[in-house]
Amino acid sequence: MRIVIKIGTSTLAHASGRLNIRQVELLCKVVSDLKNAGHEIILVSSGAIGMGVGKLSLKERPKDTPTKQAAAAVGQCELMYTYDKAFAEYCHTVAQILLTGADVEDERRHRNFRNTIFRLLELGALPIVNENDTVATEELGIGDNDTLAAIVAESVGADLLVLLSDIDGLYTADPRKDDRATLIPVVEAITPEVEALAGGAGTGLATGGMETKLHAAKIATRAGTDMIIANGAHPALLYEIAAGKPVGTRFVGRKQA
Ligand code: GLU
Repeated sequence: MRIVIKIGTSTLAHASGRLNIRQVELLCKVVSDLKNAGHEIILVSSGAIGMGVGKLSLKERPKDTPTKQAAAAVGQCELMYTYDKAFAEYCHTVAQILLTGADVEDERRHRNFRNTIFRLLELGALPIVNENDTVATEELGIGDNDTLAAIVAESVGADLLVLLSDIDGLYTADPRKDDRATLIPVVEAITPEVEALAGGAGTGLATGGMETKLHAAKIATRAGTDMIIANGAHPALLYEIAAGKPVGTRFVGRKQA
Protein backbone atom coordinates (compact mmCIF):
# COMPACT_ATOMS: atom_id res chain seq x y z
CA MET A 1 0.00 0.00 0.00
CA ARG A 2 1.02 3.58 -0.58
CA ILE A 3 0.27 5.37 2.70
CA VAL A 4 0.55 9.06 3.54
CA ILE A 5 0.87 9.58 7.29
CA LYS A 6 0.38 13.03 8.75
CA ILE A 7 2.02 13.57 12.11
CA GLY A 8 0.64 16.40 14.18
CA THR A 9 2.66 18.63 16.50
CA SER A 10 0.85 17.14 19.50
CA THR A 11 2.24 13.70 18.57
CA LEU A 12 5.83 14.93 18.17
CA ALA A 13 6.29 17.42 20.96
CA HIS A 14 5.31 17.96 24.55
CA ALA A 15 3.18 21.01 25.35
CA SER A 16 6.47 22.88 26.00
CA GLY A 17 7.46 22.39 22.34
CA ARG A 18 10.29 20.08 23.38
CA LEU A 19 10.56 16.76 21.57
CA ASN A 20 8.49 13.85 22.88
CA ILE A 21 11.41 11.45 22.53
CA ARG A 22 9.60 8.26 23.49
CA GLN A 23 6.75 8.87 21.07
CA VAL A 24 8.97 9.94 18.15
CA GLU A 25 11.29 6.95 18.57
CA LEU A 26 8.36 4.55 18.64
CA LEU A 27 6.77 6.18 15.62
CA CYS A 28 9.97 6.02 13.56
CA LYS A 29 10.43 2.38 14.53
CA VAL A 30 6.91 1.42 13.39
CA VAL A 31 7.15 3.44 10.15
CA SER A 32 10.53 1.81 9.40
CA ASP A 33 9.01 -1.61 9.96
CA LEU A 34 6.08 -0.85 7.66
CA LYS A 35 8.56 0.20 4.99
CA ASN A 36 10.49 -3.01 5.54
CA ALA A 37 7.24 -4.91 5.06
CA GLY A 38 6.97 -3.35 1.60
CA HIS A 39 4.62 -0.42 2.11
CA GLU A 40 5.43 2.90 0.43
CA ILE A 41 5.26 5.60 3.07
CA ILE A 42 5.23 9.38 2.78
CA LEU A 43 5.21 11.43 5.96
CA VAL A 44 3.67 14.88 6.24
CA SER A 45 5.08 16.26 9.44
CA SER A 46 4.11 19.31 11.43
CA GLY A 47 6.17 20.46 14.35
CA ALA A 48 8.50 23.04 12.79
CA ILE A 49 6.94 25.98 14.60
CA GLY A 50 6.34 23.96 17.77
CA MET A 51 9.95 22.77 17.93
CA GLY A 52 11.23 26.24 17.12
CA VAL A 53 9.26 27.51 20.08
CA GLY A 54 10.97 24.92 22.26
CA LYS A 55 14.43 25.52 20.85
CA LEU A 56 14.23 29.30 21.07
CA SER A 57 12.71 29.00 24.56
CA LEU A 58 9.74 31.18 23.56
CA LYS A 59 7.02 31.32 26.19
CA GLU A 60 4.19 30.43 23.79
CA ARG A 61 3.39 29.84 20.14
CA PRO A 62 4.03 33.18 18.40
CA LYS A 63 1.09 35.02 16.89
CA ASP A 64 2.92 37.35 14.50
CA THR A 65 4.07 36.05 11.12
CA PRO A 66 7.82 36.95 11.28
CA THR A 67 8.28 35.20 14.65
CA LYS A 68 6.27 32.19 13.46
CA GLN A 69 8.46 31.98 10.37
CA ALA A 70 11.64 32.39 12.41
CA ALA A 71 10.48 29.63 14.76
CA ALA A 72 9.70 27.41 11.77
CA ALA A 73 13.16 28.02 10.29
CA VAL A 74 14.78 26.88 13.52
CA GLY A 75 12.33 24.07 14.17
CA GLN A 76 12.41 22.55 10.68
CA CYS A 77 16.13 21.79 11.11
CA GLU A 78 15.51 20.20 14.46
CA LEU A 79 12.63 18.21 13.00
CA MET A 80 14.65 16.78 10.11
CA TYR A 81 17.68 16.19 12.33
CA THR A 82 15.43 14.20 14.64
CA TYR A 83 13.90 12.13 11.84
CA ASP A 84 17.26 11.60 10.14
CA LYS A 85 18.75 10.27 13.36
CA ALA A 86 15.76 8.11 14.32
CA PHE A 87 15.27 6.56 10.86
CA ALA A 88 19.02 6.02 10.33
CA GLU A 89 18.88 3.62 13.24
CA TYR A 90 16.70 1.38 11.07
CA CYS A 91 18.73 2.05 7.89
CA HIS A 92 16.15 4.32 6.25
CA THR A 93 17.01 7.51 4.39
CA VAL A 94 14.83 10.56 4.81
CA ALA A 95 14.21 13.32 2.24
CA GLN A 96 12.85 16.76 3.03
CA ILE A 97 10.19 18.34 0.78
CA LEU A 98 8.90 21.82 1.61
CA LEU A 99 5.86 23.08 -0.29
CA THR A 100 3.76 26.22 -0.51
CA GLY A 101 0.26 26.76 -1.86
CA ALA A 102 1.74 28.18 -5.07
CA ASP A 103 3.71 24.98 -5.66
CA VAL A 104 0.61 22.82 -5.71
CA GLU A 105 -1.42 25.29 -7.77
CA ASP A 106 1.18 25.78 -10.49
CA GLU A 107 0.95 22.84 -12.90
CA ARG A 108 4.65 22.64 -13.69
CA ARG A 109 5.80 22.90 -10.09
CA HIS A 110 3.15 20.39 -9.04
CA ARG A 111 4.43 17.95 -11.67
CA ASN A 112 8.01 18.46 -10.50
CA PHE A 113 6.95 17.74 -6.95
CA ARG A 114 5.17 14.53 -7.97
CA ASN A 115 8.16 13.40 -10.07
CA THR A 116 10.49 13.98 -7.13
CA ILE A 117 8.27 12.03 -4.73
CA PHE A 118 7.91 9.10 -7.15
CA ARG A 119 11.67 9.01 -7.75
CA LEU A 120 12.33 9.11 -4.01
CA LEU A 121 9.94 6.19 -3.51
CA GLU A 122 11.69 4.24 -6.29
CA LEU A 123 15.00 4.94 -4.56
CA GLY A 124 13.57 3.60 -1.32
CA ALA A 125 13.82 6.92 0.52
CA LEU A 126 11.24 8.27 2.93
CA PRO A 127 9.84 11.63 1.79
CA ILE A 128 8.94 13.94 4.67
CA VAL A 129 6.78 16.88 3.60
CA ASN A 130 5.96 20.10 5.43
CA GLU A 131 4.69 23.47 4.37
CA ASN A 132 7.53 25.89 3.60
CA ASP A 133 6.53 28.05 6.54
CA THR A 134 9.38 30.54 6.14
CA VAL A 135 7.90 31.82 2.87
CA ALA A 136 4.24 30.79 3.05
CA THR A 137 2.38 33.63 4.67
CA GLU A 138 -1.28 33.33 5.60
CA GLU A 139 -2.52 34.61 2.22
CA LEU A 140 -0.29 32.29 0.17
CA GLY A 141 -0.09 29.28 2.40
CA ILE A 142 -1.98 26.01 2.42
CA GLY A 143 -2.40 26.89 6.08
CA ASP A 144 -2.61 23.56 7.84
CA ASN A 145 -0.97 20.20 7.46
CA ASP A 146 -4.21 18.19 7.45
CA THR A 147 -5.04 19.89 4.15
CA LEU A 148 -1.43 19.59 2.95
CA ALA A 149 -1.46 15.85 3.70
CA ALA A 150 -4.69 15.42 1.74
CA ILE A 151 -3.22 17.32 -1.21
CA VAL A 152 -0.12 15.11 -1.07
CA ALA A 153 -2.27 11.94 -0.85
CA GLU A 154 -4.30 13.08 -3.85
CA SER A 155 -1.18 14.05 -5.83
CA VAL A 156 0.54 10.69 -5.39
CA GLY A 157 -2.61 8.56 -5.70
CA ALA A 158 -2.24 7.17 -2.18
CA ASP A 159 -4.28 4.15 -1.10
CA LEU A 160 -4.65 5.56 2.37
CA LEU A 161 -4.18 8.80 4.29
CA VAL A 162 -3.70 8.54 8.06
CA LEU A 163 -3.94 11.64 10.23
CA LEU A 164 -2.24 11.02 13.57
CA SER A 165 -3.66 13.39 16.12
CA ASP A 166 -4.19 13.76 19.87
CA ILE A 167 -7.70 12.35 19.57
CA ASP A 168 -8.91 8.81 18.76
CA GLY A 169 -11.12 9.90 15.87
CA LEU A 170 -14.37 11.73 15.15
CA TYR A 171 -16.83 11.65 18.05
CA THR A 172 -20.56 12.27 18.28
CA ALA A 173 -19.69 15.21 20.59
CA ASP A 174 -16.48 16.75 22.00
CA PRO A 175 -15.16 13.95 24.28
CA ARG A 176 -13.18 16.51 26.31
CA LYS A 177 -16.44 18.13 27.38
CA ASP A 178 -19.12 15.47 27.03
CA ASP A 179 -18.64 12.03 28.59
CA ARG A 180 -21.50 10.58 26.54
CA ALA A 181 -19.54 11.21 23.34
CA THR A 182 -18.89 8.04 21.32
CA LEU A 183 -16.39 7.36 18.56
CA ILE A 184 -17.76 7.11 15.01
CA PRO A 185 -15.88 4.18 13.39
CA VAL A 186 -16.85 4.76 9.75
CA VAL A 187 -18.02 7.83 7.82
CA GLU A 188 -19.46 6.92 4.43
CA ALA A 189 -20.22 10.49 3.35
CA ILE A 190 -19.37 13.92 4.72
CA THR A 191 -22.88 15.23 5.21
CA PRO A 192 -23.81 18.55 6.87
CA GLU A 193 -24.59 16.49 10.01
CA VAL A 194 -21.02 15.13 10.03
CA GLU A 195 -19.64 18.63 9.47
CA ALA A 196 -21.66 19.92 12.39
CA LEU A 197 -19.70 17.52 14.65
CA ALA A 198 -16.40 19.34 13.99
CA GLY A 199 -15.69 21.78 16.78
CA GLY A 200 -13.17 24.63 16.65
CA ALA A 201 -9.38 24.66 16.44
CA GLY A 202 -6.95 22.23 18.08
CA THR A 203 -5.14 22.65 21.35
CA GLY A 204 -1.87 24.28 22.48
CA LEU A 205 0.87 24.31 19.84
CA ALA A 206 -1.17 22.55 17.18
CA THR A 207 -2.82 24.28 14.23
CA GLY A 208 -5.59 21.94 13.13
CA GLY A 209 -8.74 20.73 14.83
CA MET A 210 -11.57 18.53 13.57
CA GLU A 211 -12.56 21.18 11.04
CA THR A 212 -9.29 20.95 9.08
CA LYS A 213 -9.50 17.14 9.33
CA LEU A 214 -12.93 17.10 7.71
CA HIS A 215 -11.64 19.44 5.02
CA ALA A 216 -8.80 16.97 4.43
CA ALA A 217 -11.28 14.08 4.37
CA LYS A 218 -13.24 15.80 1.62
CA ILE A 219 -10.15 16.21 -0.58
CA ALA A 220 -8.92 12.66 0.05
CA THR A 221 -12.22 10.80 -0.30
CA ARG A 222 -13.13 12.68 -3.49
CA ALA A 223 -9.83 11.47 -4.94
CA GLY A 224 -10.80 7.91 -4.00
CA THR A 225 -8.43 7.68 -1.01
CA ASP A 226 -9.65 6.39 2.36
CA MET A 227 -8.68 8.58 5.29
CA ILE A 228 -8.26 7.49 8.90
CA ILE A 229 -8.01 9.70 11.98
CA ALA A 230 -6.16 7.85 14.75
CA ASN A 231 -4.41 8.69 18.00
CA GLY A 232 -0.71 9.41 17.50
CA ALA A 233 -0.03 8.59 21.14
CA HIS A 234 -0.13 4.92 20.07
CA PRO A 235 2.10 4.57 16.99
CA ALA A 236 1.68 0.76 17.00
CA LEU A 237 -1.87 1.37 15.78
CA LEU A 238 -0.26 1.89 12.37
CA TYR A 239 0.33 -1.89 12.17
CA GLU A 240 -3.37 -2.50 12.63
CA ILE A 241 -4.25 0.20 10.14
CA ALA A 242 -1.91 -1.28 7.53
CA ALA A 243 -3.51 -4.69 8.16
CA GLY A 244 -6.93 -3.17 7.40
CA LYS A 245 -8.24 -3.52 10.97
CA PRO A 246 -10.74 -0.94 12.28
CA VAL A 247 -8.90 1.86 14.09
CA GLY A 248 -10.13 5.37 14.87
CA THR A 249 -12.49 6.85 12.29
CA ARG A 250 -12.32 5.79 8.65
CA PHE A 251 -13.69 8.08 5.95
CA VAL A 252 -14.49 5.99 2.92
CA GLY A 253 -13.02 7.22 -0.36
CA ARG A 254 -15.17 7.36 -3.48
CA LYS A 255 -13.52 8.72 -6.58
CA GLN A 256 -15.55 11.48 -8.16
CA ALA A 257 -15.44 11.96 -11.88
N1 GLU B 1 3.68 23.68 9.10
C1 GLU B 1 3.42 23.88 10.51
C2 GLU B 1 4.63 23.44 11.34
O1 GLU B 1 5.41 22.63 10.90
C3 GLU B 1 2.27 23.09 11.03
C4 GLU B 1 0.96 23.30 10.39
C5 GLU B 1 -0.05 22.31 10.97
O2 GLU B 1 0.25 21.62 11.93
O3 GLU B 1 -1.16 22.24 10.48
O4 GLU B 1 4.75 23.89 12.46
